[in-house]
Amino acid sequence: MFAIKRRLKLNKQQHCLMAQYAGFSRLVYNYGLDLFWQSVDAGLKASDSKRIQAIKKCLTNVTKKRAEFAWMNQMSSKVYQSALQDLQTAFSRWRKGIAKNPVRKTRKNKQSFTVYDGNGVVLVKSGKSIKIPTLGTFRLQEPLKESYVSQTFTISREADAWYVCFAVDAERIPPIMHAVAEPVGIDLGVKTFATISDETEIEAPKPYKIAKTKLGQFQYHNRNKQCGNKRTGEKASNSAKKYYKKLARFHKRIADKRQDFLNKTTTSICKKYAHIKIEDLNVSGMVANRKLSSAISDLGFYEFRRQLEYKTPVFGSKLDIVDRWYPSSKQCRKCKHKHDGLKLKDRVFNCPSCGHTEDRDLHAAINLANAPDDKCSRVGSSRT
Ligand SMILES: [Zn+2]
Repeated sequence: MFAIKRRLKLNKQQHCLMAQYAGFSRLVYNYGLDLFWQSVDAGLKASDSKRIQAIKKCLTNVTKKRAEFAWMNQMSSKVYQSALQDLQTAFSRWRKGIAKNPVRKTRKNKQSFTVYDGNGVVLVKSGKSIKIPTLGTFRLQEPLKESYVSQTFTISREADAWYVCFAVDAERIPPIMHAVAEPVGIDLGVKTFATISDETEIEAPKPYKIAKTKLGQFQYHNRNKQCGNKRTGEKASNSAKKYYKKLARFHKRIADKRQDFLNKTTTSICKKYAHIKIEDLNVSGMVANRKLSSAISDLGFYEFRRQLEYKTPVFGSKLDIVDRWYPSSKQCRKCKHKHDGLKLKDRVFNCPSCGHTEDRDLHAAINLANAPDDKCSRVGSSRT
């Protein structure tokens, strides 16, 4: 099972339509949430699902028939049914202790809604447009290369753009032959993003760094905007509102660049190597070092690992996480001497015992590739 997400190419009218549906979905969600607690306060005893069934009936039989809500009849019923389904899921997640209690949605939350085909899965044809059940046909920014089948479609807004996302229940790629069969180690670093034990080096993209600098400049130039304050009732100036819009686009662009880079990198790694070994990231230890923590969260090490975890089974390769106490960077790979004097800033590994000299990252990557099985835990099928 995997999900496909595409940006929609909408005209003004379609833009409005999406915003209307997102608003409708939010309204129904909040309506359901309010009625839910009102029925609890009134002392009515029922299970969550029964309560939500009753709310659905109330919406269709009472509220929708009132003149001021007549417009609801023109909206797709799938949208409000999905919204109430979401509400039920939110309640059950809360009951299980997985999530906080459901709260009202506001315009500032992520705008999204879900539609589905009542008759089951539908064919999503390859090409430049997509037919979304009950909504119609829309153009896509990037074409679909293959045809898929799916039932549920979620439409969401990020910055100024609308996206469609649908789940496909299939294996993505037929089994493939990997160019490299023997295990490789990957060392992640701040200077070189990833160093692979076969001497491949992967650099983080430069445009990303430039975008970060520009963002900083932009925020500095707008430091005196009247941003508004809810408590004092001070309103945000018009230019501040514009600033927030532009800022959201900035963040989105940076996040897109990073996601694009990570996706391309992890896909090519999973395609090329049959057996990958990476170090277990010491989350708390790394984040405690403040200088490193910003660089690491920017680079997306966790996202890198997460993508490897779900992509390796798709491409038929194996992923091992090497124990975080395995001395991959400190222990000389030639004579096994533990070099405790190695500092973070040292770029070259220089063994004081046997004199072996090697690039620090490459040395660590080779050590990871040679990590013994009892120091590794397999991700996926045979995890112990
Ligand atoms: Zn040595």
